[in-house]
Amino acid sequence: AEAMEWREFDRSKLYTADLESGLHCLLRVELAARSALAGAELRTLTDFITVVAKLFPGRPPVRRLLEMLQEWLASLPLDRIPYNAVLDLVDNKMRISGIFLTNQIRWVGCQGSRPELRGYSCSLWKLFHTLTVQAGARPDALDGTGLEGDPQAVLQAIRRYVRTFFGCKACGEHFEQMAQESLGSVKTSDQAILWLWEKHNLVNSRLAGHPSEDPRFPKAPWPTPDLCPACHEETRGLDSWNEDQVLLFLKRHYGSSNLVHTHAA
Ligand code: FAD
Repeated sequence: AEAMEWREFDRSKLYTADLESGLHCLLRVELAARSALAGAELRTLTDFITVVAKLFPGRPPVRRLLEMLQEWLASLPLDRIPYNAVLDLVDNKMRISGIFLTNQIRWVGCQGSRPELRGYSCSLWKLFHTLTVQAGARPDALDGTGLEGDPQAVLQAIRRYVRTFFGCKACGEHFEQMAQESLGSVKTSDQAILWLWEKHNLVNSRLAGHPSEDPRFPKAPWPTPDLCPACHEETRGLDSWNEDQVLLFLKRHYGSSNLVHTHAA
């Protein structure tokens, strides 16, 4: 295997490079597994891209690209499109200035100690958490899309994307099971943020010691005490969460002011 150059990074930051590399993988690799998109699959993609386009907090050229893709998908008169039509848009074949998404993978906070570890799946989690936090911070962002006013809208779009398109099929099934059990109880945007956090920790605990665990990034309840001391409490000698503090921490950690562009292409 090729030796990889390690990029030093700060675990308390969110890196644009991870989110943009993840979007590149999603749009140019994951979706490319389909030669065409139609019917319910196409609607799932359209809703997911709508949520991302309206809530992604990254750099303007990427946001404009997502906006263009969203407007195109939302206005399609067709029920079936070839994947290549999506790719042409993502590659900006029309050469509209100020629209661009890197086609290079550059993991920073999502680097793995081996190439098959972390990377895309890590970036997808980060994207999803970012979306739930942005939906809370910008309650009007989905106005006019048909998804407004529904505190579950972001999670439902994520759920359908994961079930339909995520290359890891077992992951999609596990996530679907968790959604079926409890997503229906989410009534506010704060609860949506906490729901995803809680389920992600369940996945972490299930995967501790699994071959997909990166030894350099052991699975542990997150945020760890070094990242958020106030998130942890002791109740009758047992470690427990202070959920008010967790919510504040998530809003800060996945908020746009925590995004740094270091290493972004
Ligand atoms: P990840 O779990 O990918 O997390 C990325 C980053 O998010 C962490 O580095 C940390 O900064 C932050 N984070 C960690 N926990 C939380 C939390 N609770 N809330 C908010 N932020 C947090 N793999 C399987 O083998 N089986 C599965 O069933 C499975 N299901 C998955 C379902 C989904 C929806 C996704 C996106 C991935 C799934 N994966 C599954 C992949 C797996 O969860 C990890 O993404 C992968 O093992 C890489 O782990 P990681 O160390 O990069 O941390």
